[in-house]
Parts: sequence; structure tokens; C-alpha cells
Amino acid sequence: MTHDDPRRRIPRTDALLATLGDLVGVHGVDAVKAAVTTAQADARSGRITPEDVESATRAVLAARTPTTLHPLVNATGVVLHTNIGRAALSADARRALLAAAGHVDVEFDLGTGARARRGRGTLAALREAVPAAGDVLAVNNGAAALVLATTALAVAQGRPEIVMSRGEIVEIGDNFRLHELIESTGATIVEVGTTNRTWAQDYSRAVTEWTGLVVKVHPSNFVVHGFTHGVDVPELSRTLADVRAERGLDVPLLADIGSGLLRPEPLLPDEPDAHTALTGGADLVTASGDKLLGGPQAGLVLGRADLVEAMRRSPLARAVRVDKLALAALEATLRGGPTPTAAALRADVAELRRRTEEFARRLAEQGVGGRVVAHDAAVGGGGAPGVVLPSVAVALPDRWGAPLRREGVVAQVTGGACLVDLRGVEADDEARLLTAILTVAHEGDAR
Ligand SMILES: *Cc1c(COP(=O)(O)O)cnc(C)c1O
Repeated sequence: MTHDDPRRRIPRTDALLATLGDLVGVHGVDAVKAAVTTAQADARSGRITPEDVESATRAVLAARTPTTLHPLVNATGVVLHTNIGRAALSADARRALLAAAGHVDVEFDLGTGARARRGRGTLAALREAVPAAGDVLAVNNGAAALVLATTALAVAQGRPEIVMSRGEIVEIGDNFRLHELIESTGATIVEVGTTNRTWAQDYSRAVTEWTGLVVKVHPSNFVVHGFTHGVDVPELSRTLADVRAERGLDVPLLADIGSGLLRPEPLLPDEPDAHTALTGGADLVTASGDKLLGGPQAGLVLGRADLVEAMRRSPLARAVRVDKLALAALEATLRGGPTPTAAALRADVAELRRRTEEFARRLAEQGVGGRVVAHDAAVGGGGAPGVVLPSVAVALPDRWGAPLRREGVVAQVTGGACLVDLRGVEADDEARLLTAILTVAHEGDAR
């Protein structure tokens, strides 16, 4: 080694380990050492410069996944895509997941050393977010919230009939039919109204001493146009109040809003939210944590304290219990800043165009041409049907769709092109997206 040999500039392992302290906490010292060794060897062989050793180490660690799940870049323009894990978590929520990975006081009071209510910090955050709720509960997912409500508030009370509008007997996801889920608890669905029209008196006529709940489902993935009528939460709540006054039957109204919006979202005026449903007279609201709320998979239950307590006391509550990781991520989502879901939803189209043109320019610099075209993005995840989010995409050859997926990028192959929409791509993922496209483009050259 001569005096000016660049290899002399390769950083030493102990110095690198000190700079990479943050990653030692995440990956463990052995993995970081192994990545350092790989990067140093690359620098020694001249594949990278000594100055790149640190960033190469970081890249090796970032690519390291201890699971068969592949981290993906969502370039589809569909903000919430169920097949790729719905909402991407915020940076705060990701940190919260890591923090909760070891032992945590999820059900333990550090002051007294005694058992405490599970997830109380998360529940407090949810209550603060929706003060109209008398009490709140978090369970495994939205489906679990419905099963628990039906079981605890209807079947276990000896009032197994659940009244639902025929217009709301819907298939939410692939083969997932809500009324079948409800019936799986031993409940019977009493269908009222017709596919297109249901009136308040249809509900009041159907309520009997056997009715456990009236369930109003947000038909989140389709819209009915034309000769239609539905009964909204305030009208249904008034109808049930009349039934109570006239016939002494006290039947709670459960609104399954699905999306998990806690407050109205101006961009999605037809999407129900927990605050509006509760102030409109719903006794209980159920929703998902990983749709528009932008958090982890969870089922949220908000509403009358006596009903929430009955659900909490049900033996079934244990079987649908939410895990500590989801509790941690949910609290961070509720208390933290804007989520990637909110950012993708609210992204301004002019700003998206500017960002996409800059991205296309960087591709062009590397010899990859791609036209910038207008694109219709969507909310997805079974939410806000018919809402088009105007967006922008880079049009690449359609045969690039499959190799891009292998590089961890999901784009939309349609109309003879592979459309890469940046709306749902987090800023931190743009470099990865660029590299993936260049890799695929150059593979093409090589063939
Ligand atoms: C998504 C959805 C569900 C199911 O929630 P999961 O969290 O996926 O279990 C139930 N009801 C409605 C209206 C939904 O949109």
C-alpha cells in the first residue's frame, strides 16, 4: 500500500460502528459489522470509493429483511391498496413499533407495579381525538369490532336479531360479506327495505323485542345512482328514539363507517366520520385503523360507555385483542403529525406535476425516456368509490410492470403503458424508485 493509496482512506470498523450507532439499535451489532465488512471489501476492490463505505453499509442494512415480505414502493396511485398492506405508517408510528418490540408497560402500571388497563395510552389518545365518544376500545380489526359488538350486545343478550337495510348487504372485500360475518356469531339478519330504497318506517316495523342492534353499514366500495333512498344516522337515531318512546324497546344503533375518518375530510365529503356519526345519534361507531386514519391494522369502537364496557367484558374480547405493536403504532398515528395516507390524499396536483416532471428529468438524464401524463388516482382500500384524485404519472413501457415488481415497485399497467404515479410514493422512497426503474431499463438494454 503506497502512501496515497485510496485504500488508506477506507474507514475503520470501530469508527464506522460509532457513526452507525442508530443502526446498531435496529439491526444488532453483528449485522452491522457484517455490512461494514462487505462495504469495506467493496472499497478495497475499488467497486466503491472509500467515501461511500458508510452509505454502502446503510444501503446493505436497508435491503436486509428478516422476513419474506418485500418492502414495496406504491406507485399505483391507489392510496390504500389492501393487497400491499393498506396504510403505510408514519415515521412516528414506525418508531413506536420498534419501541414496543421488547417488553413494554402495555398492561402494567409502573407506579404501583399492578396490572393496568391494556393500551390505556392509546385509548386516551383516541378519546381525545373524538370527545363525542363516551368510551373507546381497540380490537384486532374492523371485522373483529363488528363480531364483538354483535356477540356482546345482541347474541349474548338473548336478542339475536340484527336489523340491516338491503341496500347495505354488501361485499366489502374479495368474498368478505359483512352480513355473513355477522351471522357467523349466531345472529340473524333481518333485512329491511329494498336494494335501492329504504325508509325509516322499514326500520321501525322490523324492530321487535328480539332485536339486539340496528346496524348501518357504509357501503364503502360502490355508489348507487338513480331512484334511491337511504336513512341517514340522524334520522335512524330519531326513529329508534320513537320506537323506544312508543314501544319501550331500547335498541342501540351501530354505524360501521369502515374508513376510520375521525373528523370530516373536506376532500371526501361523502365519507362518514366518527365525530359526525356520534353527534348525529349513533350509539356506537366501528371503523378500521389502517384505512383513511393511516394507522396499523386495528378495529376502533367508539360510543356509549355502557355498550363499550359490555364489549370489553365479553369473553370474545380476548380473542380479538389488539396486539401491543398495533397499540403503539395507533397511538403514534393519533398523536403524531400527518400520515403518509393524508399526505398522499391531500397532495396538490400542481405540486405532483412539478415533482413528477423533476423525476422524469432525472430518468432522462440516465437515458430513460418517460412521458409525463395525467392519471386518475383513487383512495382505494374499499373507500370513497367514484372519487377521482387527479394525479400525474410517468408512462413507461408496459412490459416493465413485471420486472419493476421484482424490484419492489408496484405500478399500474394499463392502456399499453406502465404508469408510475408518485402520489403514494413517500419522498424517502423516490431514490429507491429511481434505482429500480434504471435497473429494469438497463436489464432491457442487456437483453
Ligand atoms: C373495511 C371495512 C370493514 C372491515 O374492516 P377490516 O379492518 O378490514 O376488518 C368493515 N366495514 C366497512 C364498512 C369497511 O369499509
